Amino acid sequence: MLEVQNLSVNYRGTQALNDVSFCIPVGQLVGIIGPNGAGKSTLVEAILNLVPVTQGIVRFKEMPLRRQLLKTAYVPQRSLVDWDYPVTVWNVVMMAQTVQTGLFKGFSRQTRHLAQASLERVGMYELRHRSIGELSGGQQQRVFLARALAKEAELLIFDEPFTAVDRKTEDIIFDIFQELRAAGKTLLVINHDLGDSLAIYDQLLLLNKRLIAQGPRQEVVTSDNLERAYGRGLARVFA
Ligand code: ADP
Ligand code: MG
Repeated sequence: MLEVQNLSVNYRGTQALNDVSFCIPVGQLVGIIGPNGAGKSTLVEAILNLVPVTQGIVRFKEMPLRRQLLKTAYVPQRSLVDWDYPVTVWNVVMMAQTVQTGLFKGFSRQTRHLAQASLERVGMYELRHRSIGELSGGQQQRVFLARALAKEAELLIFDEPFTAVDRKTEDIIFDIFQELRAAGKTLLVINHDLGDSLAIYDQLLLLNKRLIAQGPRQEVVTSDNLERAYGRGLARVFA
């Protein structure tokens, strides 16, 4: 179980997240939806201990998550990545494993093997010597997905992975999400789109600073809930 209790985040006077609590069983693929500025990115950053929280507890399998961050993998939203940073595809994936490798000199054969397998899985092994800045948006997203796979995490968090990607990438991401879920991994995925793409999730969290609704899509994506999250205009379009 991933347990989030009373999580709040305040950025110098802006209350970005207000007393959010929920539980998710291990092995689920969970979508997080809500308008721009709803605190979706802040929520996952707070879960991963990347931003200071004013209150709240995050536990994974009964233990504080902040003591198990090696079991987590995080793919931030595209705008947070410095795409001009001169690093190759191969090194992006290997870097994920630096922490585990720790003080050992160099990388083990197993580590390299895992990086290769992950890049092959997303169809990016051939381009391993390219700089990430030379890739298309979809290819970049797949490299970061490979990096998350190579980490062999238990809890995987993706912030808007389907934004600005091509159809092929969308299909690969989708298939890998299903495989990870079948392997018992827990996935939290921020999804900015309210359309049919929501059908892949076991359950949804609808956020607007507070948690507005949680549950299966048909219970969460209702006109009442959308109105509470998005205001009147959008609610009418989607419900
Ligand atoms: P979402 O991902 O749902 O679009 P965010 O979590 O990015 O929302 O942002 C929630 C709110 O917090 C917004 O009002 C945003 O402007 C503010 N915010 C986000 N990050 C920061 C930051 N590092 N410093 C100050 N304010 C921030
Ligand atoms: Mg965001």
